[in-house]
Amino acid sequence: MAKQTKYCSFCGRPESHVDFLIVGQDGVQICNECALQAAEIVKESTKGKSNLPNIQKESIPKPIEIKEYLDQYVIGQDEAKKFLSVAVYNHYKRLIQEKGNDDVEIEKSNIIMVGSTGTGKTLLARTIAKKLHVPFTIVDATVLTEAGYVGEDIESILTRLLQVADYDVKAAERGIVFIDEIDKIARKGDNPSITRDVSGEGVQQGLLKLLEGSVVNVPPQGGRKHPEQKMIPVNTQNILFICGGAFDGIDKKIAARLNTRVVGYSASLETDYIDRNNLLQYIAPQDLKSFGLIPEIIGRLPVLTYLEPLDRDALRNILTEPKNSIIKQYVKLFKMDNVDLEFEDAVLDYIVDKAIEFKLGARGLRSITETIIMDKMYEVPSNKEQNLIIDLEYARTKIEKANVNRLKIA
Ligand code: ADP
Repeated sequence: MAKQTKYCSFCGRPESHVDFLIVGQDGVQICNECALQAAEIVKESTKGKSNLPNIQKESIPKPIEIKEYLDQYVIGQDEAKKFLSVAVYNHYKRLIQEKGNDDVEIEKSNIIMVGSTGTGKTLLARTIAKKLHVPFTIVDATVLTEAGYVGEDIESILTRLLQVADYDVKAAERGIVFIDEIDKIARKGDNPSITRDVSGEGVQQGLLKLLEGSVVNVPPQGGRKHPEQKMIPVNTQNILFICGGAFDGIDKKIAARLNTRVVGYSASLETDYIDRNNLLQYIAPQDLKSFGLIPEIIGRLPVLTYLEPLDRDALRNILTEPKNSIIKQYVKLFKMDNVDLEFEDAVLDYIVDKAIEFKLGARGLRSITETIIMDKMYEVPSNKEQNLIIDLEYARTKIEKANVNRLKIA
């Protein structure tokens, strides 16, 4: 008996004209192409609609749990970790708060982290994002400008959040945004300027709207390249903003403030306790104002924390201790070629020394290690070598031959 031809119940094409048919009940069938099209239709029609699961109180990670998680990836920075953990925990609590029983409404506490570049601000933000079950995005404040200027509009910050939330507006509305390099939109100088300051105060005013909590019309594709796009209203009331910046030179403002204060009658007491090597630990909101953030912005970032400068020990730990430390990553890379890679301890110390000497900080650790190991990464996969020990002499020759300026770019 001839085999009966099967057809797609949607487009009517026979099985021979499509890649395959999926068979349903009562002889209904759908071809691979119609299935894809159906998926698209479903995606389109549910755009903006939420299938948000309720947050269960028991499933909210406790601050200590969040910090322990951060400890696995980020060396030191205990104060910033604690502040972040509490802020994120409170963010969750605000999301599940019951309205109407009393007049107490938990308001959000956006955060600002101040610390030199390469001390782990972005790493903290990225790591915490892995632990969370809310949409999370990192944006760079340097690309922001006021509407009408070249660059991205402030609203584009929320475009990214919408995108990671798969355009689920309700989900995006309880997400977390990390705004990096917030110091770059500081007003130049303490006085409001008469001329328009494209990258400064205007942007801060725009940002204020987001931080305060308001309904913002967000271009779903971002930018101004698609002027015809339909805007999506997003309420920022429950979006947690974490800002980070190096605030280069803010230590001088802090020192100046501390000095003026120590003129008072308890002068001797206060000067005794000031650690001049790490002035950031004394940071206060007024220092942000002296740096050029407008008071309204500072008021909307009530949690202010700082990152410690990374000393020798911290850099050494960063090389080997975190769960995905640089050294562990290289060991893994070589393991994939069946090679056991080992660095002598002296080499690890040498890498740290060079990072300090070239003033590269933690960022330099990777570029220095990469420079040392590059030739081996090139040769080893074609060799039969099974054990590879990098010793100090080898490391030295590689670094001495290298162009230091190239290391600095990394
Ligand atoms: P920032 O945002 O403060 O400029 P990053 O978080 O981007 O600095 O740090 C740059 C790189 O340096 C990170 O990817 C990480 O490899 C390393 N690093 C910096 N600080 C730490 C830290 N405290 N613990 C572990 N690694 C760190």
